[in-house]
Amino acid sequence: MKKIKTRFAPSPTGYLHIGGLRTALFAYLIAKSNDGELILRIEDTDQKREVIDAVDKLKEILDWAGIKFDTGAGIGGKNGPYTQSKRTEIYNRYRDELLARGQAYPCFCSAERLQTMREEQQANKQAPRYDRRCRDLSEDEVKKRIEAGESYVIRQKMPLSATVKVFDELRGEIEFKSGDLEDHVLIKSNGVPTYQFAVVVDDHLMEITHVIRGEEWIPSFPKNILLYKAFGWEAPKFVHLPLVLNKTGGKLSKRTGDVSVENFRACGYLPEAINNFVALLGWSPYAKQTKNSNNKNPEIFSLKELIKQFDIKDINTSPAIFDTEKLDYLNGYYIRQMDMDKLFDLCLPYLKKYWADKINLKKSVFNDPIFTKKVIGLEQERLKRLDEIGELTEFFFVENLDYESEMLVWKKMELGQAKKNLEKLIELLEKIPEENWTKTSIEEGIVNYLKTKELKIGEYLWPMRVALTGRKASPGPFEVAEVLGKEETLNRIILAIK
Ligand code: GLU
Repeated sequence: MKKIKTRFAPSPTGYLHIGGLRTALFAYLIAKSNDGELILRIEDTDQKREVIDAVDKLKEILDWAGIKFDTGAGIGGKNGPYTQSKRTEIYNRYRDELLARGQAYPCFCSAERLQTMREEQQANKQAPRYDRRCRDLSEDEVKKRIEAGESYVIRQKMPLSATVKVFDELRGEIEFKSGDLEDHVLIKSNGVPTYQFAVVVDDHLMEITHVIRGEEWIPSFPKNILLYKAFGWEAPKFVHLPLVLNKTGGKLSKRTGDVSVENFRACGYLPEAINNFVALLGWSPYAKQTKNSNNKNPEIFSLKELIKQFDIKDINTSPAIFDTEKLDYLNGYYIRQMDMDKLFDLCLPYLKKYWADKINLKKSVFNDPIFTKKVIGLEQERLKRLDEIGELTEFFFVENLDYESEMLVWKKMELGQAKKNLEKLIELLEKIPEENWTKTSIEEGIVNYLKTKELKIGEYLWPMRVALTGRKASPGPFEVAEVLGKEETLNRIILAIK
């Protein structure tokens, strides 16, 4: 069997759209689950859009996401160059071949003429379409006009009447009427090929067996297939991935910040979570899963597991819904699985950034990695995004807690009672020796006393927790006390009493 080859072919826009990552991941999974090869090709023929450093940035973020390419731009391989702007000679050769085969023609129509033509079509309620005026110019005339230096584009000769049938691996046969297909431009007047031309030549020469791209490319599909036919080449298989919509069924936001993988990374999403999430945008192995495995977490897939389970047959065609809550859930899951040292390293930059412009920081504890690690460890359970770590743990690092004394009051209790309870807590806590200052012994010391005296637990633990954290929601008082240490715990309770 022919070796499976897929490609990811982004245009360098300066950032990686989350939908682009989904395409890259699916191309990667289809290749890797078949022992195949993944190629990175840079489609930069649309020079207007080119952004400085865009290719390096793109490679960096794909690498971060764990998508590894076998050949391609910046990696090498026998079918390079892999950047379209470096393939001009190749395109020229195939342009000439296509013209020689009579499958394309130079078109000299000026921009003004095309504009007038379109306006007329619009006025007559016709679909705007090139009227093929240059399709049948004589060889002589073409030669003369080129020699005279007239500007021209190259257009593909589309069938005049026929039904064009194409086959998508997910959707099966799709039919297009030739009347809907215009003689579109393959080579622009500056000699640069359009996407439609370059994609076919490149996929053919790079021996791509499966083209994986978004559903928005289906309108190009018949043009591509006809071009393969025009060259006499065998077309690869096509897999058009379903659209990705937001929760209300609309398009994903256009604002770069909301859709760029770089932004998700900056917010503290882990590559494991992003890949897992993105894989589920259009792929669902559940039916098979419930039959074949006793996986307790049917939505959790590592990259390795994805490669093992992936099958084109399990890709859906209905639109995938981009649900950020699900992404948060997955991210929280991978954070909880993470080794503490790694989590500490990942959280540290976020903590530093959080405190950079704040003055209430107690530097001695902030600069103590053992303390900071314990603090992070305490929030590991609740953390959904790494960028939340500063806010969540702020109370551990502050010089002075700031809260309203009313907050110390549990339900219908009096403020005076809260004060008395805190005084009792000081007494109990003082009895616990420093060497034995653990969550368990603190809990035993307090709860045993409250039980024997039949006192209401909430009336003690609520004010204690508020005294230690200054917050309505936080980890429990015993855990927090353990991390703060005996001295700081007592200090904070004394301050609360005051
Ligand atoms: N260069 C196209 C894009 O950035 C890729 C389309 C394709 O994969 O064929 O969307």
